[in-house]
Order: sequence, then C-alpha cells, then structure tokens
Amino acid sequence: METYDCIVIGVGGIGSACLYHLARRGHRVLGLEQFDVPTDRGSSHGESRVIRQAYFEHPDYVPLLKQAYAGWSALEDVSGRSLYQPTGILVAGPADGEAVAGCRLAASQHQLSIENLSTAQAMGRFPGLVIPQNLDVVFERDAGFLFVEDCVRAHADAALAAGAELRTRERVRSWQSNGGTVRLLTDRGRYEASRVIITAGPWSAHLLSELNLPLSVLRKVMTWHADRSGAMRVENGAPVWFIELPEGCFYGVPGVGGESVKVGEHTRGEAVTDPFTVDRGLRASDLLPIRSMLKQLLPGVSPEPSRLAVCMYTNSPDGHFIVDRYPGNDSVVLAAGFSGHGFKFAPVIGEALADLADAGRTDLPIGFLGLSRLLQKAE
Ligand SMILES: Cc1cc2nc3c(=O)[nH]c(=O)nc-3n(C[C@H](O)[C@H](O)[C@H](O)COP(=O)(O)OP(=O)(O)OC[C@H]3O[C@@H](n4cnc5c(N)ncnc54)[C@H](O)[C@@H]3O)c2cc1C
Repeated sequence: METYDCIVIGVGGIGSACLYHLARRGHRVLGLEQFDVPTDRGSSHGESRVIRQAYFEHPDYVPLLKQAYAGWSALEDVSGRSLYQPTGILVAGPADGEAVAGCRLAASQHQLSIENLSTAQAMGRFPGLVIPQNLDVVFERDAGFLFVEDCVRAHADAALAAGAELRTRERVRSWQSNGGTVRLLTDRGRYEASRVIITAGPWSAHLLSELNLPLSVLRKVMTWHADRSGAMRVENGAPVWFIELPEGCFYGVPGVGGESVKVGEHTRGEAVTDPFTVDRGLRASDLLPIRSMLKQLLPGVSPEPSRLAVCMYTNSPDGHFIVDRYPGNDSVVLAAGFSGHGFKFAPVIGEALADLADAGRTDLPIGFLGLSRLLQKAE
C-alpha cells in the first residue's frame, strides 16, 4: 500500500488549489481524480468564472475575496499564464432585491469602491445592454472573469512542480479512518495517508454519506451566442453582468478575441440524482428563459446558441460553502457545497484546507463556513 502525508480526493477547482498549497509546504501529497485535470464532467469548466468583490451573497466573504485575488495573481506569476480578465461587473436589480442591496451592503461594510448608475448612464456606458428602467444599477470596476480550465491546469501544474503526485482516471470508491491514518480504496489500488482532504464537488454526498449532508446538485446550462453588434466584446469595453429579473437571475460574460458571449441563469436548475448521468444535451426548456432574456437585455446578441455546456451546482441549504474538519476525525478535512459561486475562492480555500490538514485550524476567516451550522439544524 502506498503511503502519503496527504491525499486530496477530487482535483477540480478547489482540489487543485489544495494540492498546490499542500505540495508547496513540502508534504508528500497525492491528488486522485476520477476524470482528467481539468475535466468538463464536474463543476469547473466552461471557459470562464466571474470574480467580484462587493459580494452580495454575504459581506463576510469579502476578506476571503481579497486573499483570493492575491492568490490568483500569485498563481499567474508562478505559472506564467494570464488567468484573469478584468472587465468590471454591472449588477442590476430591484433596489431591495438580493443582488444590488447585497452589493451595496458588502461595499459599505468593507470600504469597496462601487458606482451607482442610472439605467440611462449604464446603457450609455455599455451600449450592448438594455436595462429595464425600474432596476437599480451598480458597477464594480475591480471585477472580471477567470479562465477556469487554465486556472485548474495552473494549480495542478504548480502542484506537480512543487512535488505533488497526481493520478487521473482513478476513482476513490471508499475511505476508512483507522486511528491516526486514513485508508483509501480506489478502482486501481489502495492508499494510506495521515490526512485526507475531500473536495469532490457534485460527488461530495457520496464520499461523505455518513454525514448525511443536505446538499442538492443542480443541472446548469451555459450557452454561447454570436454577438452581431460587437458591443458585448471585452475589446469594446463590455463588462461581466448579473441582472436580477422577476423571472430569475441571469449573468453573462463578454466575448474575448472574437469569441461569443456566454450566458447562464443562476437561479433554477433541475435536480441531479446521479452526477455521472446528468443530461448533457440541450433541451427546448433550457432555451426558453435564455432566449427571452437575451431578446430583452442583449438585443444585439443572437438568441440562438452556437454551443452549450452542462455543468453542476452543489448547493448547501443556505447557499454558503462548507469548509471544515470532519466531525470527530482530525485526519479528514472537507470542502463542499460551493453553491454556484465558489470557483473564484479556490486559492484561499485551498490554503485554508491545507491549514486545516496541517494544524487542525486556520487564521483565515472561514468560521462562518463551518459544518456545525448545518448539523445543528439537522438535529
Ligand atoms: C454553470 C456554472 C457557472 C458558475 N459560475 C461561477 C462563477 O461565475 N464564479 C464562481 O466563483 N463560481 C461559479 N460557479 C461555481 C464554481 O464553478 C464551483 O463552485 C466550483 O468550481 C466547485 O469546485 P469543486 O472543486 O467543488 O468541484 P469540481 O471542480 O467539480 O471538482 C470536484 C472533482 O472531484 C472529482 N471527484 C469526485 N468524486 C471523486 C472520487 N470518488 N474519486 C476521484 N475524484 C472524484 C470530480 O471528478 C471533480 O473533478 C459556477 C458553476 C457552474 C456549474
């Protein structure tokens, strides 16, 4: 049986970052991934992930975001790759809705710079967008998007360069904790480690079945659309946008270098019972809300998609991440339930997981992401 200091189960968005932070600390570390790295079968694919700081989901994320921005920048230096495209983000919605009010709250609590724009000012600045007049608009300059697959690749490559081992197309079937060590059974062999970090994305509930975590996996469709006007291109100053409408919250990422505009709906999504068999085809029902949103908000962009990708959200009941030690077992650490907004945090969560594996604690402000809030509610 091969023995390691630490084994990371699942080398996707979060696991690749964790693998890197463990390796750079000098641990003998192995990453086990059931697909390839990166893969288009989990939750970290589709070209881009939005990154922003005036965080409407909760102001407590802002200190972590500041560290995440620094982490991505450091990874750009280590990898020699450009991973971040600054564009700014336009957020629009009802004044008392989740998005705009949440941005304003996070910005005021953390002294972040955001601009309040009238809809006319916003449309003057970003002529590709038509914003309903009854919505409030804020613009945050220090935002943009990450090249998601390149980020995963960069973390994994940096981990390998720092001495990590990585085995792909190897699935962990089960784990068992035996005193101070953890034993893993995969479809190719057996391993032992002092610490195991479980970062399994949509498969988390399977590997953490004893905890009975209230996670729900949702099928999410991203589509790409030709931008006939060119107004929604990065080169022409288009921002990332997030708009809260009565029928749902929609987001979009501008095209870069002639690429098409990517859009998706943040709300809704069909429950996935088995992440291995999620339907990756395009259904007519996927397109209805996207078509009508594009006709309303982005009239210069084709309402018909040129391509699509299907991804999965793994939602916790309160929409906040779960990053903690396994209850009653100091050898196992877990990160799950990233609820459709976790990728941007990968460097800082990777570091927090490495701290938890190393020392059982971290100085990073992740207390609000602890498991106890969910287990207490389940009792
Ligand atoms: C459509 C869409 C849009 C999104 N937009 C944004 C955004 O704009 N900004 C943002 O910050 N976040 C966004 N997110 C959320 C973000 O992408 C996810 O929260 C994040 O990528 C989750 O990373 P993860 O490591 O938990 O999961 P994954 O990246 O899926 O990694 C888990 C890995 O574990 C592997 N694995 C699982 N079980 C096993 C096993 N038994 N053995 C071996 N390997 C295993 C899987 O194969 C997988 O590769 C979006 C998500 C989706 C789906």
